[in-house]
Amino acid sequence: MATLFKNIKELIQVRREPISFVSGKAMSELPTIKNAFLVVDNGLISDFGNMEDCPKTGFSEVIDATGRMVLPSWCDSHTHIVYAGNREDEFVDRIKGLSYEAIAANGGGILNSAKKLQETSEDALYQQSRQRLEAVIQLGTGAIEIKSGYGLTVDAELKMLRVIKRLKETYPLAVKATFLGAHALPLEYKENKEGYLRLLIDEALPKIAEENLAEYIDIFCETGYFSVEDTALILEAGKKYGLIPKIHVNQFTAIGGVQVGVKYQALSVDHLEVMRDEDIKALKNTNTMPVALPSCSYFLSIPYTPAREMIHAGLPLALATDYNPGSTPSGNMNFVISTACIKMKMTPEEAINAATVNGAYAMGLEDQVGSITIGKQANLILTKQINSYGFIPYSFGTNQIEKVYLKGQEIICHSERSEESQAERSEESQGH
Ligand SMILES: [Zn+2]
Repeated sequence: MATLFKNIKELIQVRREPISFVSGKAMSELPTIKNAFLVVDNGLISDFGNMEDCPKTGFSEVIDATGRMVLPSWCDSHTHIVYAGNREDEFVDRIKGLSYEAIAANGGGILNSAKKLQETSEDALYQQSRQRLEAVIQLGTGAIEIKSGYGLTVDAELKMLRVIKRLKETYPLAVKATFLGAHALPLEYKENKEGYLRLLIDEALPKIAEENLAEYIDIFCETGYFSVEDTALILEAGKKYGLIPKIHVNQFTAIGGVQVGVKYQALSVDHLEVMRDEDIKALKNTNTMPVALPSCSYFLSIPYTPAREMIHAGLPLALATDYNPGSTPSGNMNFVISTACIKMKMTPEEAINAATVNGAYAMGLEDQVGSITIGKQANLILTKQINSYGFIPYSFGTNQIEKVYLKGQEIICHSERSEESQAERSEESQGH
């Protein structure tokens, strides 16, 4: 049966005609309907419009959204939320002056996470990751990409990908899996990069394909990690198994990663804190989505992706969290949007487009999520009472979300549920 949202103060990101993504000047256009209604049927958006045209009957549930806004859930196209343990010790080291690169050189960083992950059982890893996923759903995320890359052995990478698969099967949001075996060089291969790449290509990839564990392939193309040649090798190998590239490039240095991504028709090239004119040019008129990760810039105090230059050049831009234990221990898309406005000088319209339609495209989900369009999944954010959508980025650090819906169903937050079950448990114990 259908659910009606009525008296919506403003229905945001309304696209009657489906679009793949928005770029350049079009990023500043955010279509909305004021005083709107929205109908959800069988988990999908089935109708919407002005309240004057609102259907009167035929609903099993009516939600009065007076004073509140409705927008499509955030689409977080770049995360590493499957990981074991946290790295707050390194956080303190960095406060005291050590750089991210220096910490990595001391055996910290990605290798530290890999060690913890290798020692964690698949179920324990699932339980830790599940809590983070539930938390970001409450923060309005309705579609998410998750990478491997903290395993760095064939078994541990497969363990991560199986956890991602289990999350995908358990939760009612779209989850896309990316194989990022080439995230860092494990200690055993410190002097044998070729050997590690061969391990990924000859042993990991066939197993991943056999179990259908990933849609995308990724590599950390960066000075001190993997070169442009390594990137080409990995992307070529992934392609043989039908894995589409989504790659880490231009975070600390520009070494031609953007160009190799475009050459291999990457769905997205992510980070882009360091962009040369030739990198911006390489992305023009391609199907590759540039993705900025401002929470990572914030946490590491590194430059922000030059959004203004890129949008001015006519490029699209997506925003994602990069949620991971080392450089971005936050999966809050609301904070990402605020930071994009405050630090990257994106307008609220540009930031919301980047976090919805463009994020959906960066996961190959533009037909299913990312806008208020008939036939798309009813993954929705119902805001608190706010005056305008600009209040969402303006009120940084505070989430203006009252309720979230996935496929039309209200999702009750885990902590509330665990409080309930605790209450139940204490009643039980009293009874005995
Ligand atoms: Zn990342």
